[in-house]
Amino acid sequence: MIFRTVLLYLSRQHRLKKVVSELPGFKQVVQRFIAGEKIEEAIAAVQELNNLGIVATLDHLGESITSEVATSHEVSEYLRALQFIKDSNVNSNVSVKLTQLGLDIGEQLCQENARRIVEEASRLGNFVRIDMEDSAKTNATLRIFYSLRSEFEAVGIVIQSYLYRSEKDINEILAKNSRIRLCKGAYDEGAEVAFAAKSDVDANFVKLMQRLLTSGIYHGIATHDEKMIQATKDFVTRENIARDTFEFQMLYGVRRDLQVKLVQEGYRVRVYVPYGEFWYPYFMRRLAERPANLWFVAKNLLKG
Ligand SMILES: Cc1cc2nc3c(=O)[nH]c(=O)nc-3n(C[C@H](O)[C@H](O)[C@H](O)COP(=O)(O)OP(=O)(O)OC[C@H]3O[C@@H](n4cnc5c(N)ncnc54)[C@H](O)[C@@H]3O)c2cc1C
Repeated sequence: MIFRTVLLYLSRQHRLKKVVSELPGFKQVVQRFIAGEKIEEAIAAVQELNNLGIVATLDHLGESITSEVATSHEVSEYLRALQFIKDSNVNSNVSVKLTQLGLDIGEQLCQENARRIVEEASRLGNFVRIDMEDSAKTNATLRIFYSLRSEFEAVGIVIQSYLYRSEKDINEILAKNSRIRLCKGAYDEGAEVAFAAKSDVDANFVKLMQRLLTSGIYHGIATHDEKMIQATKDFVTRENIARDTFEFQMLYGVRRDLQVKLVQEGYRVRVYVPYGEFWYPYFMRRLAERPANLWFVAKNLLKG
């Protein structure tokens, strides 16, 4: 727990990126979780996943952007990514963070930026997933999502099972006939908003998963936790829910064995493929999720 808190603290110290990226052997470690810095590398990674029967969602790494010009670069990058997906004929949608599109600058700006991406995805027959960030952003993220959803079908949202509010949010989102990615949640949250014990986060995940899979809407169950996956499989079997009416989702480089196994068992799997130069906070959150990853880092640094 203390490890997680320290790593999540370090994930917010952006100046450390330069220090850690100069450590020998570090590049190999980052490459395990990030598909590359350029869109071409990300598309190649998606193609490899597609060859295994796995679909993808592309994420151009970026968050907490505070300049309006930089947000318009993010929009351009997403429009480019959508075009690349179409031209290379790979099976992938895109995921985006609203602080990447200016949420910290102003809601109006963010909404307009997000709208441009969703409009283009809609035009190309693709789909945009809005990631969920820390709880201080939940209300604004949902407001923007609802507004986009009232205009477009091609947009979905993420809900985190560690937040107390999530059941209520899910009911409202389902009432709007919308698609949800359910995950546990990756940020450092206080006991006033989130369950502290893993057992409570897991119990809520199972409860919310059941609510989603009986809604008649296509959702994503995003986890690498074998217990959560087993609970989902058991529920689907018990309730006679068809395997092509939902998908499991996992992160690039995490539990590749399990990703392939699920496909072989006839489940749909989507992998979240991050790319870009701004990998530091994303990478640190992945380390925070699993202290064993630190050994992977240490081994590579020693090798380098
Ligand atoms: C597709 C996808 C999209 C996501 N989008 C969001 C989002 O929008 N907002 C948000 O807050 N969070 C998001 N997350 C992160 C999520 O909230 C969790 O932090 C993360 O998935 C770890 O939780 P877990 O369900 O895998 O279970 P945990 O209980 O954390 O882990 C269970 C087991 O999974 C394996 N595992 C988990 N993480 C790792 C790792 N990094 N490296 C190696 N093994 C690991 C380990 O075997 C571990 O014991 C997303 C996750 C996925 C898979």
